Amino acid sequence: MRFLIIKNLTIHYMRCVALGLTVLSCSHVKMFPSPSPKTSSPPTPSPIPSASVDKALGSYCYETLKKLPGKYHKARLRKACSRVLLKEGCVSPKNRSIFHYDKLSERVGGTRILVLALIHGDEFPSGSVARAWMERLEELDPRNSWRVIPVANPDGLVLKTRTNANRVDINRNFPTENWDQLALKMWKERYKSTWRKYPGPAPASEVETRCLMAHIKDFSSDFIISIHTPLGHLDFDGPKMKYPNFNLLPWRRFGHFPGSLGRYMWKDHGIPVLTVELKGNDPIKSFEVLDNLQDISGTLAIKALDRSKASSKASH
Ligand SMILES: [Zn+2]
Repeated sequence: MRFLIIKNLTIHYMRCVALGLTVLSCSHVKMFPSPSPKTSSPPTPSPIPSASVDKALGSYCYETLKKLPGKYHKARLRKACSRVLLKEGCVSPKNRSIFHYDKLSERVGGTRILVLALIHGDEFPSGSVARAWMERLEELDPRNSWRVIPVANPDGLVLKTRTNANRVDINRNFPTENWDQLALKMWKERYKSTWRKYPGPAPASEVETRCLMAHIKDFSSDFIISIHTPLGHLDFDGPKMKYPNFNLLPWRRFGHFPGSLGRYMWKDHGIPVLTVELKGNDPIKSFEVLDNLQDISGTLAIKALDRSKASSKASH
C-alpha cells in the first residue's frame, strides 16, 4: 500500500502567507492545545473553522479510504474526499494528515455529532463504516450536523497496529481525571504491560489525542461516535435512556478505562459517547445496514441531547 505523505501544515501556512494573512487571521489556522494532565477544560462552543479545499488532501483521502475493506461508491467517495479539510496540528508523528469531513444540517438546532474511526489502526472495518457514512452524507440534507474523522490514527493504519507510531494506545491517552493515578498502574497490573494498551508516557502525550481533543472543542460536539472492532456490541456512555433497536449488535455497558475517550468525554465532561464495536473484522456488507446504523446513532444523539437539556433545566 502506498500512502501519500501530505505536508499540509506547511502548505496551509504558505497559503496564509501567500494570501497576505497573518497566522491568526487565516481562518483555517487554529492554535493547538498543549498536552496538560490537569488542565483539560470542558469543551466550550466555538465557531466551526472554515478552510480551503486542498486537492492533494482530497487525493490522499480517496487513495486511503478506497483501500479499506468492503464496497464503496467511487463517485460519491471522490466527491466527499474533495471536501475534506485538515486542522492545524492534525499531522501524525510520521507526517500523515488526520483529515476530516463536515456535513452541516440546514436545520436550526441540529445535534452536532463527531464520528471517529480507526483510533485503533488495525480495526480496518471501522474506517469502512465512516467511509460509507461520508458517502451517504454527500447525498443527504441531514437532520444533524456531522463531522467525520475516518482515520484518526493514520500511522497505525499503515503499520497495521492498534497503537500509533510511538506505540501508544490513543484510546488510553486522553487526559481523564484519573489518568495520573491509574492509567500506568492499570496497564502494568491488569494488562501486564502489553504494548497494545500502553497509555503513553503522559496524558495527551500524543499528537493524535490532541488533534481529536481540538476537534471535540472546535466542532462544539454534542455527541461522539467512536467506531471499533471486534467485540460486537453497542456501548453507550451517557444519560440513562431507552436505546433504539439494532438487530446486528446488542446494547451492552462495557465500562470505561483511565485515558479512554468514553471516560474523558462522559465522566469528565458530560458529553455522551456511543462506542460501536463491530463484530469480528469483516466489514458490514449491506449499505442498508450501514444506513440503519447511522440513523440509529443519529436518533440516539438527538434523544441524549434532549435528555441532557431536560435534566439541566430541572437542576436550575
Ligand atoms: Zn478499538
